[in-house]
Amino acid sequence: MTSEDKAASEDLDRACASGVRRCGFIAILGAPNVGKSTLVNRLVGTKVTIVSPKVQTTRSRVLGIALVGASQVLLVDTPGLFQPRQGGSRRLDQAMVEAAWEGARGADGIALVVDATRKTQEGTDFVVAWLRQHSRRAVLLLNKIDAVDKARLLALTRDLDATGVFTRVFMVSALTGDGVGDVADWLASAVPEGPWLYPEDQASDMPTRMLAAEITREKLFWQLQQELPYSIAVETETWTENADGSIRLEQVIYVEREAQRGIVIGKGGQRIKQVGQLARREIEEILDCRVHLFLFVKIRQKWRDDPGFFRLHGLAFPPRKPSG
Ligand code: GDP
Ligand code: MG
Repeated sequence: MTSEDKAASEDLDRACASGVRRCGFIAILGAPNVGKSTLVNRLVGTKVTIVSPKVQTTRSRVLGIALVGASQVLLVDTPGLFQPRQGGSRRLDQAMVEAAWEGARGADGIALVVDATRKTQEGTDFVVAWLRQHSRRAVLLLNKIDAVDKARLLALTRDLDATGVFTRVFMVSALTGDGVGDVADWLASAVPEGPWLYPEDQASDMPTRMLAAEITREKLFWQLQQELPYSIAVETETWTENADGSIRLEQVIYVEREAQRGIVIGKGGQRIKQVGQLARREIEEILDCRVHLFLFVKIRQKWRDDPGFFRLHGLAFPPRKPSG
């Protein structure tokens, strides 16, 4: 713990003792796959947003609520920032990037997550340029320190610090939790004084039925190869509480083509069975009760161009840009 961290933690103790509450939004920005969602889950202490080794797992803005002493830190997990591709059905890309900037504009503070293991930092450069342009500063979270050597870390810190847009630098591993406690304390003292905006037992603003659908989507992301995960959407259609306290969930997995349906189902239904088992176990853990999960695969062509999908995910439906 540095002396600054110690001071932050003492401020927090004083705030708790005096009953002064704090609450504010911190936008978590960064390139795809740097560990933003893993970090948000770690700070909240429970899973509120899904994670995978593939880019663009997070599709919309998700709010993770962390309670740290007398502070309620509202963490805005955003889709990664990247250059949206041109043409095709790229509306979703555009809406995701817009959702990320929207999260930043409305926040009290910004945390930029950087993957310390990466050689190039395209998404990071975007954010630095944006911060400069809007005369804003951010806290820098160098993530994945469990997987990188010290010398590289120091060189990267030096380069990023030289941009002059960072107020603080933390080195963390969202995966192991290393250094995350110090970040939590610092964020808790950085949010403004004010009443808590959410009940203290609430961990996210995502409706549970949507989180349940996201968990199934996460399992599909891990199970399926290459481009297919990007063609998939999952929705919880029915949610019934049984007399014995268990819950019956029916979810629809939307794919865009017949061939994709076959891949999702797998030989003899093996793949979907496995996805269902993994998702059910995790949903049971979150809901703390028995769950009966039924998965159906349907074809909905061009769901990525369907305004209803965007609405459901709280994304703005962007007009199609002329291609070329
Ligand atoms: P996001 O796209 O920025 O939200 O990134 P995710 O949270 O989905 O994580 C992307 C990948 O990086 C996943 O495979 C994570 O398990 C992995 N990851 C996240 N944080 C760490 C970390 O601290 N160390 C290592 N080694 N891997 C991490
Ligand atoms: Mg994410």
